[in-house]
Amino acid sequence: MRIQPIFITLFTLLLALTACSSSPQSTTEAVVPTRLELAVLPTDTPLPATATAVPPIPATATSTPTPEPTATATPTATPTATAVPFGAITTIGYSAGARPIESYQFGNGATNIILIGGIHGGYEWNSILIAYEFIDYILENPDIIPETITLHIIPSANPDGQFKVTGVNGRFRESDVSTNTVPGRFNDNNVDLNRNWDCNWQPTGIWRDQTVSAGPHPFSEPENIALRDFIVPRNPAVTIFYHSAFNAIFMSGCPAIGPRTRALAELYATAANYPTYEEFPSYPITGDAGDWLTTQNIPSITVELSTHFSLDWTRNLNGLLAVLEHYGQ
Ligand SMILES: [Zn+2]
Repeated sequence: MRIQPIFITLFTLLLALTACSSSPQSTTEAVVPTRLELAVLPTDTPLPATATAVPPIPATATSTPTPEPTATATPTATPTATAVPFGAITTIGYSAGARPIESYQFGNGATNIILIGGIHGGYEWNSILIAYEFIDYILENPDIIPETITLHIIPSANPDGQFKVTGVNGRFRESDVSTNTVPGRFNDNNVDLNRNWDCNWQPTGIWRDQTVSAGPHPFSEPENIALRDFIVPRNPAVTIFYHSAFNAIFMSGCPAIGPRTRALAELYATAANYPTYEEFPSYPITGDAGDWLTTQNIPSITVELSTHFSLDWTRNLNGLLAVLEHYGQ
């Protein structure tokens, strides 16, 4: 992770040097970029346009110190020069229905934590609203983000499914939610996005007592490609998916639950007062997002809110605060 600022600097230099020539390499979707390119591009692109945003150093409001004290350590100069503004929004990709998928960034620390709401769209609309509540809270309380942490929040990972139920792109209100939420589980290809990842993938998945489309092959859906290509290069210490409504924390694992995922689940569950499960007890789940992330050595848990309506706000704020404190040490 420590090499990332260097590459950001190099990338910025390259941008400056080649400003007049459009680089087909960096925009081609068919070519799979290297991990470092993926790591740099999304965080780098919003920089020029967001110069007016609040800088991510809220603690230094006391005085205007001379810059000399930091002159000795050269590495510290580069991160501040390329820091992503607090709360900056990046579009990480588009849905099957061409709706943007957005990520909010808080902090510029070396340890990445990623929260994902709404992979089941409008059917689990409260898993989207809790992500927006987190965003509001962090903007009002920026000092909860430790200096060592970069927190990314992707509130709505299935914007097609959200739109089917709310009629709204982007942030919506509870009053926008229609009564029949079932169609909102799927994207505009009618695929269940949490059956489409490459761990135990099957062409049809199971949801309750019915089968659902898992796509023609793993990662057939643009939403999941965007999530995968955003998450993996950042090598996060924590990924948390929000769902509803089982009132529990589930540990991801493919083929088995690793110790880092187990520790994360127990930390969050204790703080938020949820029971933990190693496996979903009601029916087998194939192609799960968190399970696949563990194949990339990325710890992952699922928070199942207690109902399809409640945010379980205090519980989940306590869960997030515990994660920030623990991984921010
Ligand atoms: Zn779900």
